[in-house]
Amino acid sequence: MSSLLIRNCRVLQIPLDEPRATVLTGQDVIVRGNRIEAVQPTGQADISHFHDVIEADGMLVMPGLINTHAHVPMVIFRGLAEDVSIEKWFNDYMWPLESNLQPDDVYWGMQLGLAEMIHGGVTSVADHYFYMDRAAQAVEKAGTRALLGWAIFGSGGMDAINQTANFVRTYQGAAGGRIRTWMAPHAPYTCDDDFLRACVQKAEELGVGIHIHVSETMGQTEASLEKRGLTPIQVLDQTGVLDVPTLLAHVVGAMPGDMAILARKPTGIAHAPKTYLKLAMGTAPVRAFMGHGIPVGLATDGAVSNNTLDIWESLRLMALTQKQEAGSPEMMTIPQNLFIATRMSARVIGQAHELGSVEPGYLADLILVDLSGVHHQPLHSVTASLVFNTAASDVNTVICDGRIIMQERKLLTLHEGDIVAQVNAGMERLAQRVPSRRIQVYNP
Ligand SMILES: [Zn+2]
Repeated sequence: MSSLLIRNCRVLQIPLDEPRATVLTGQDVIVRGNRIEAVQPTGQADISHFHDVIEADGMLVMPGLINTHAHVPMVIFRGLAEDVSIEKWFNDYMWPLESNLQPDDVYWGMQLGLAEMIHGGVTSVADHYFYMDRAAQAVEKAGTRALLGWAIFGSGGMDAINQTANFVRTYQGAAGGRIRTWMAPHAPYTCDDDFLRACVQKAEELGVGIHIHVSETMGQTEASLEKRGLTPIQVLDQTGVLDVPTLLAHVVGAMPGDMAILARKPTGIAHAPKTYLKLAMGTAPVRAFMGHGIPVGLATDGAVSNNTLDIWESLRLMALTQKQEAGSPEMMTIPQNLFIATRMSARVIGQAHELGSVEPGYLADLILVDLSGVHHQPLHSVTASLVFNTAASDVNTVICDGRIIMQERKLLTLHEGDIVAQVNAGMERLAQRVPSRRIQVYNP
């Protein structure tokens, strides 16, 4: 069994159920196989007993970041839909562009996005996209962890559901257990009630959850209320979607009654503030979710609405937008933000007792953050630095499932040059945009 000693580090500690953050200094973290074995004061372990030793020299060890909602392969369309409304974003850009998508684009796009995320300390992603067998192969190669869902629309009918279910079955537990799979219907406005019910039935049969977009804007909620007298959350409740574990992307347009429904369901919310700011979608009620005990995780969403897959940026924007929305700098404190970035993000993807903490027994998904840069000096508060002034490029080393996948900023599993060349070779084709070839129509 492999063994790794991370010597003389700081360690971020956050309790399971409480937004409190402390930083231990002078620690050793011991990893055996794919699990954390011990966190102890430095100097007690015999270096000769380990396959690998990392001299951390005061760097901070914290849990690998979790991106709870993305469309990673969309990095191949980065920069192609700028300064447009959400309607145009879907109807004139994204859905016509995606008519060009080929399975190989997903394979290389996934690798490109994973390379970007590893560089920024992200070890897990809940991804929602097409040709996910190819995405799974990229994850296997990258050495990261993923919760994958093959996105489907109601227009695909039972064929689409059966195909996705097949993917769920085939790739469940793949890559040595690093890959988990869920059902992924797109949204209540692109999937009718019968289709959603059929997805629930399939999820129950397979013993998995559902990852879906819902109430992305208050406009969607209002349109649903007008058309059917129900909020999108009520639609998910009535069709049984909320009875299986669910990962709900966005929920920006939540009504007060929605909170009570979500509070009693096995659900979690993915929060992607940069997309909301960029597409002027409004501010998600994160503090209200937390007040109702509804878990919230950090997310980037796809790179066509975010432009990066940088979770540090999501963390910072969540803190800032929530303070602004509350009209109070005393709200949404540093420990609350870090609690969401670690413990709650793990809970949202259904791994509350395995990920999101540096403690014995947990999976060894760890990052070393270098806080020696001048933008951190003097380092009076490590936790303030993490929320407000850490850059993705401060991540020095990344470990996933006990294996070092980036060391001193060098990727050990993926070849950046090859990936970029492959993606660039398809640029002209990928940028073609024929509105009549769109894969769906946005009309909530
Ligand atoms: Zn999304």
